[in-house]
Amino acid sequence: MGFNIAIDGPAGAGKSTIARKVAGELSFLYVDTGAMYRAIGLGLLRKGIDREDEKAVSASLDDIQVSITHESGEQRVWLNGEDVTRPIRSEEVGNMTSRISSYKAVREKLLALQRKLAAAHDVLMDGRDIGTCILPRADLKIFLTADAGVRAKRRYLELTDRGISCNIEEIERDIRQRDLRDMTRSIAPLKKAEDAVEVDTSHMTIQEVADTIIRMAKEKMMDASSQDTGR
Ligand code: C5P
Repeated sequence: MGFNIAIDGPAGAGKSTIARKVAGELSFLYVDTGAMYRAIGLGLLRKGIDREDEKAVSASLDDIQVSITHESGEQRVWLNGEDVTRPIRSEEVGNMTSRISSYKAVREKLLALQRKLAAAHDVLMDGRDIGTCILPRADLKIFLTADAGVRAKRRYLELTDRGISCNIEEIERDIRQRDLRDMTRSIAPLKKAEDAVEVDTSHMTIQEVADTIIRMAKEKMMDASSQDTGR
């Protein structure tokens, strides 16, 4: 079993930027589980499946194969053998994904893949249900939050930076809707695990958040190794 760090939180709290940075500094494998859900969302969009039709979504999953690879620390996501790392980032895919990720068959499809990765490597995995459901025994659990307005602004800057034109009010509305759907779904809802440390990133820089998490991770790793040598 590798050393496992779980980072959960709502859309736009800075999870992926921070997780990538922390994983890089600790030489851990970074697993972005949202990207896996997005690949399924894109596959369903391309097949023209109605996102409200749970039966049709579930029935289509056998034709949708998702895998991930890592190249110099960067995760690449594959959909039926095609590299979809970039196309999964659109708001359209994000909205589709937030709906279909509430379905049991979709979650079951990814659960085994995520646990297998965590068993084989030192991983930093980010998502919504990592600390509560996928890795309940993770060595360190972080719950990252930020004010919805701050998160909308961050997403807006990220998209415009990539040359994608967008509207900040629409983004904030989407973020609030997505939060609500993620928090109120019956299976694996977004919530802080009891033993997770909550970090509010609204007024912190990326480096400050990363340093906070790295410090906690190093403490936990030292505890783990001193327990091992004390046996
Ligand atoms: O993190 P990201 O915004 O890329 O995730 C896209 C969507 O995938 C989220 O809105 C959420 O509904 C879903 N998701 C999930 N469980 C995870 C990761 C993402 O339900 N572990």
